[in-house]
Amino acid sequence: MNIKNHYHDVIIIGAGLAGTRAAIEVASIADVAVITKVFPTRSHSTTAQGGVAASLNNNKAKGEDSWELHMFDTVKGSDYLGDQNAIEYMCKEAPPTVIELEHMGVPFSRMPDGKIAQRDFGGHSRPRIAYAADRTGHVMLHTLYEQSIKENVHYYSEFVVTQLIIDNNVCKGVVAYDLRKRNVHVFSAKSVLIATGGGGRIYKVTSNAHESTGDGFGLIYKSGLPLQDMEFPQFHPTGLYPLGILITEGVRGEGGFLLNGKGERFMEKYAPEFKDLAPRDLTSRAIYTEIMEGRGVGPKKDHVLLQIHHIGKKAILEKLPEIYQFTITYAGVDCTKEPIPVMPTMHYYMGGIPTNYEDGLVIADDKGNTVKGLYAAGEAACESVHGGNRLGANSLVDTVVFGRKAGKHMYKYIQQVDKPELKGDEGKQTVEMITNLTNSTGQELVSKLRENLQDIMWQKCSVFRDEKTLKEGLSALKELQKRYENVRLIDKASTFNMEMKEAIELGNMLEYAEATLASAIYRKESRGAHSRVDYPKRDDQNFLKHTLVFRVQGATPRIATRDVSITRYKPQERRY
Ligand SMILES: Cc1cc2nc3c(=O)[nH]c(=O)nc-3n(C[C@H](O)[C@H](O)[C@H](O)COP(=O)(O)OP(=O)(O)OC[C@H]3O[C@@H](n4cnc5c(N)ncnc54)[C@H](O)[C@@H]3O)c2cc1C
Repeated sequence: MNIKNHYHDVIIIGAGLAGTRAAIEVASIADVAVITKVFPTRSHSTTAQGGVAASLNNNKAKGEDSWELHMFDTVKGSDYLGDQNAIEYMCKEAPPTVIELEHMGVPFSRMPDGKIAQRDFGGHSRPRIAYAADRTGHVMLHTLYEQSIKENVHYYSEFVVTQLIIDNNVCKGVVAYDLRKRNVHVFSAKSVLIATGGGGRIYKVTSNAHESTGDGFGLIYKSGLPLQDMEFPQFHPTGLYPLGILITEGVRGEGGFLLNGKGERFMEKYAPEFKDLAPRDLTSRAIYTEIMEGRGVGPKKDHVLLQIHHIGKKAILEKLPEIYQFTITYAGVDCTKEPIPVMPTMHYYMGGIPTNYEDGLVIADDKGNTVKGLYAAGEAACESVHGGNRLGANSLVDTVVFGRKAGKHMYKYIQQVDKPELKGDEGKQTVEMITNLTNSTGQELVSKLRENLQDIMWQKCSVFRDEKTLKEGLSALKELQKRYENVRLIDKASTFNMEMKEAIELGNMLEYAEATLASAIYRKESRGAHSRVDYPKRDDQNFLKHTLVFRVQGATPRIATRDVSITRYKPQERRY
């Protein structure tokens, strides 16, 4: 198999909003290449619907807005696990960042006076979500992609990064597999940014794209570096039943509400003030509780309804056109006439690669040391601005604020260091992996193992969990990891072999699923999206800290902790 060598000053893994925004920031002085599994504008960011949070203060329906209010809502939403220094930075930067996006060409929806329109979202005390109908991610990503082309950013599409090259705590590049030509490529670089997005695909029901297989988590974990707060996958309350396709919180932001099988607006009981605009952790638990107590909808009483038709067809077609289409196409439901069947769906990883918010550098240990030249941003990273529970619309702002921040630091860093020297054997491991997968006569199928993994995570590490189910999940996962060593490919195609790609992805998925289960076992309390039935209360005394999980070959992962930054707001009970 051919190995091809390249050099670029900066390598960015991932062409979503975080990667593209970083690329634009550094491209004026550097040779920047972005490596992506899919064509850039097909990255998962393009599916983001509801909007981007920023206290622009354009919609004063609930009073004046400010970055301080945005910060408080985010800290409270995070169940006080979010790092307040990072959250303060993000909330201050959000308004100028949205204006900057507008100046780059993002066509935001407008208020009658011409200002950027802003809508309500769960857990936000003000209507501060800037949006472009329900296609916000799509228009943002297309605009940033155009800007990156203007800046001569080079793209390697349909390449899968398989390995980070880290030598003596310095990142010197990456190894990737070209799906089209079946070559292995070694890229050396002065700095590398991981912007590989989230990992919802380890769950059976998810709103995430097929590409969201947590490759960045896998790359880091397999390199012996830690992952942070992995016990916090977020379950979005309103996935389209039974597929899990997202029905944006913008529906409830525009006046939609949830109904149980008895036709009751049950959220009034769980969140008397915020009602249907309560944060996601609380709303998902409320839906599950209604279902478990027999008040679900349908023959199996296993979902609830989301009503929006009362706002009228004109408003729906203007503000939620994609949702109108989705519900007709995937559920045969015309949401301008009848309610939408919904259930919680795995949606977002609050945890991820621990990253310094000041510069985007990847953290290597519990003392806060960083890896030189290695950065992370976007959903793959954990700064941590979302803590135990992300507020809707805070991810898009996270991607662009921290993507730009990492770009700024790389801009300085690459001017201070020399081109890295490689040993010359960096591609060997990937060549061996590809050759072994190609020639394997093992009995296990990628699709079957992936399905088993998705079942395990859905059943054992879902909205509610306890010690027994989590431990069952971890031992079942260990079995799958063994079976993966015996995997064979049915697809023998020499080009665009998608089963090969899925086999590589599965290797990553089996790793960060372990990190997720081990961290969830460790955290013996309920906080944010981590609801332990056996420890139903938040325990600030023992668990107001971040979890760091390290892979240990052939043994149980090692857990360490990091302090949470608490600057302005002391932890208090969350009431909505
Ligand atoms: C349906 C849906 C709607 C959402 N709506 C909103 C919203 O309205 N507001 C909000 O704030 N958030 C929303 N979110 C969350 C938000 O969209 C994501 O968190 C965010 O877009 C992630 O951006 P990213 O740049 O980190 O990664 P992504 O956009 O996921 O991009 C990841 C990139 O990494 C590449 N990649 C991954 N692995 C590899 C590899 N091994 N080799 C090479 N390339 C690789 C992929 O090809 C891709 O280019 C939504 C999420 C979903 C699922």
